[in-house]
Amino acid sequence: LSDPLARAGAVLTIDLGAVVANWTQLRDRVAPAECAAVVKANAYGLGVERVVPALAAAGCRTFVVAQFEEALAVRAVAPPDARVLSLGGLPAGTAPDFTAHRILPVLNHLGDIAAWQAHAKAQGAALPAVVHIDTGMNRLGLGPDELDTLVGDLSRLDGVDVRVWMTHLACADEDSVVNSQQLGRFRSAVGRLPAAAASFANSAGIFHGPAFHFDLVRPGCALYGVNPTPGAANPMRDTIRLDARLLQVRNVDSPMTVGYGATHRVAARGKIATIAVGYADGYLRSLSGRGHVYVNGVAAPVVGRVSMDLVTVDVSHLPDAAVTPGGLVELIGPNRPVDTVADEGGTIGYEILTSLGARYHRVYR
Ligand code: PLP
Repeated sequence: LSDPLARAGAVLTIDLGAVVANWTQLRDRVAPAECAAVVKANAYGLGVERVVPALAAAGCRTFVVAQFEEALAVRAVAPPDARVLSLGGLPAGTAPDFTAHRILPVLNHLGDIAAWQAHAKAQGAALPAVVHIDTGMNRLGLGPDELDTLVGDLSRLDGVDVRVWMTHLACADEDSVVNSQQLGRFRSAVGRLPAAAASFANSAGIFHGPAFHFDLVRPGCALYGVNPTPGAANPMRDTIRLDARLLQVRNVDSPMTVGYGATHRVAARGKIATIAVGYADGYLRSLSGRGHVYVNGVAAPVVGRVSMDLVTVDVSHLPDAAVTPGGLVELIGPNRPVDTVADEGGTIGYEILTSLGARYHRVYR
């Protein structure tokens, strides 16, 4: 076979140095608090097998995922002394798996706490865990009633070695009164509970200042270059670049149409280029008629519908020599950061990253 790069329709370049630089920037910002790395959803699409060792080499010792299977994948590539936290609670019957693989469950309700306590009793040892207090998100974590019940009977924690009390912000990326309300509720909750480390902030939360840092912060998106301070300049480095192959260029003229549904009507004589990327690669269908790609550094609008494997762009304004089949076109990169593509597609950078497909040729550098 030929060079995989030559065969690839699209090339995803992941800058591990930028991921590490983003983490060290946040680590320095929050010190002396500890800076974890949220690596759920395959490190937001960038790949845990490469991201976790790179961050571990920079000193990161706490990794956070959403589910047990993800935790196993992280455990396999993380240093033995690293902590792996699984946010999704303790599915029935799985407690022994957590201890066998040294994964810290995040206990989300009294039932989780009781199951962990029972497992600790069976093991004859106190077992480490994280407990999630809900302070207003109303999604996961002990709600106010459950917190009162726990505080009223702290024997429910016998055998549960609480390493971290955590909560999660609902509106961290906004200047919202909810942030200070959650801060107040969290401080009060932690004050009623036995002493342990506390964890409050995600990426955006970190930028609300030291009062939000507590002992452990849990950034995700900022590590991968998504702006944690919407409305202000992005303090993070971009981490990915997506280029796709220009497959074909054709001349078109009115009254032709382009693509499925014949949604794009050609107004005048021009040129359409077809690029080897589609919604199966996470180039969202909502970018139809809205996205922009860069051909040799010049913007070209996506016209017609994004299909599974292809997009069509109007390159009428570019000289023939600039649009040669076989070349690569920038879809995400210096000219089109993730957040810009997300805006165009009517979504958030998180969704662009975690939608990145599996069939790219991936290059790590
Ligand atoms: N903490 C928890 C509980 C989360 O669910 C997430 C992700 O959604 C994060 C931290 C990281 O958030 P962000 O990517 O906004 O930094």
